[in-house]
Amino acid sequence: MGYGACSREADCLATPFTRMAKGLNSLSWYPFLRIPMMFAGKVNVTESSPMTPSSILMACSECDLLHWVERPPTRGNSSCTRCGAILRRGGYGSRDVALALHAAAMVLFLLALSFPLLTLHLHGTAQEASIPGSARLLANLGWPWLSAVLITTVILAPLAHLSGMIYVLLQLRRRQPNRWTARIFRIVEQFGAWGMAEVFILGIIVSYVKLAQMAVVVPGPSLYGLGAFMVVAAAAVSVLDIGAVWEALGGQAVEAASELPKGARTAREANLVACLSCGRLSPLKDSSCSRCGATLHSRKLKSRERTWALLLTSILLYLPANLLPVMRVVSLGRTQADTIMGGIIHFMRTRSWPLALLIFIASVLVPILKIIILAILLISERRHSSRWPEQRARLYRLTEMVGRWSMVDIFVITLMVAMVELGTVATITPGPGAVAFALMVFATILAVQCFDPRLVWDALTLDSRGRLGQREEPAHG
Ligand SMILES: [Zn+2]
Ligand SMILES: [Zn+2]
Repeated sequence: MGYGACSREADCLATPFTRMAKGLNSLSWYPFLRIPMMFAGKVNVTESSPMTPSSILMACSECDLLHWVERPPTRGNSSCTRCGAILRRGGYGSRDVALALHAAAMVLFLLALSFPLLTLHLHGTAQEASIPGSARLLANLGWPWLSAVLITTVILAPLAHLSGMIYVLLQLRRRQPNRWTARIFRIVEQFGAWGMAEVFILGIIVSYVKLAQMAVVVPGPSLYGLGAFMVVAAAAVSVLDIGAVWEALGGQAVEAASELPKGARTAREANLVACLSCGRLSPLKDSSCSRCGATLHSRKLKSRERTWALLLTSILLYLPANLLPVMRVVSLGRTQADTIMGGIIHFMRTRSWPLALLIFIASVLVPILKIIILAILLISERRHSSRWPEQRARLYRLTEMVGRWSMVDIFVITLMVAMVELGTVATITPGPGAVAFALMVFATILAVQCFDPRLVWDALTLDSRGRLGQREEPAHG
């Protein structure tokens, strides 16, 4: 039997490069590998009226503008016509392919957890480090917080995400998925946001170069397992249409047949509220999403106050994070304290320019840029500024994407401490700056999550008295 006929000519013509480009577009390191939009597929959205009787109404999660999105979805991404945020990311394979890839990623991840990551040979002694072994060692050495960061972001979050995805995809193969599946899927997606395996791999590369200057370092099987896991996990993300999974777990509330209030352009103006977890539109009076159970708010609750509080916390932590030592190296009776800048200067002295630049961008530039961008967003929102909303929306998206990469220095410290536990020959301990730095990174990530980008666009619909018309959100709870 030959190959099945393809119903869409464009898909048959897709070259392997095009498919790879589409897959890369959906990765979390998207900003660094952004492929020109010409590869991203057609945008099948319209603001005015439904294109087909089965078109569904969606609100942009970043500006609240309503769009009719064609269904069944095309394989490209559908973007907001006003702010450019992605409304719906297309998937490039079936749910069964996604299930197989998630299962393969799980096997590779479990293998990566079971074997040594790196082996260090120094003065006739050998020290092996695996991911769980490093976490255990850090807890035993009196650094439970560092161990907790490693366990949460590198072990638990990816494991919970993968096992949850496998469970949800298995449930979808049944005629009647378990009624808890949608709620589990919401939690699974949140775990995915805190998984930082790709940042950890970058941390391993930096630690490898640092350690290779003082000892012989041999990569272990776990490193190859982790690399293969990253490739398979990226493929698993790119084949799955998340919007279609949500639809299979419960249809959209508003379909083409529905009438919208005349002149309503945003969900709020149409007396609707969009669920930020699953995208379902519900009446403004509803307090929780009937599909995934998430609490509904027309705008994030106390967004300004929470973002300001977290932003000020990050600013206060930025100084100790950069001035205090993040790591102490005790070697042959000599103690050397390293600050973040000290580490960068060390890489420059040893002519490791790419690593110096990488640590400078990830640990110094990204946190300060995030603080400045959040301050600009908050101040312009407070002044009800309607200037450059698209540029501000892009800045917000940038901070959302790059924040996690600042964790690379924390993973380097984690690995260095775990690797160089060679008793009297050499020891490395984390310094107080590392605590401040990790807290600062978490505070900025949370600040970005607390900020509601829809506030940027609300200024455009404010009346002359600076109030949002008559459609204020009723208080919930
Ligand atoms: Zn938008
Ligand atoms: Zn929902």
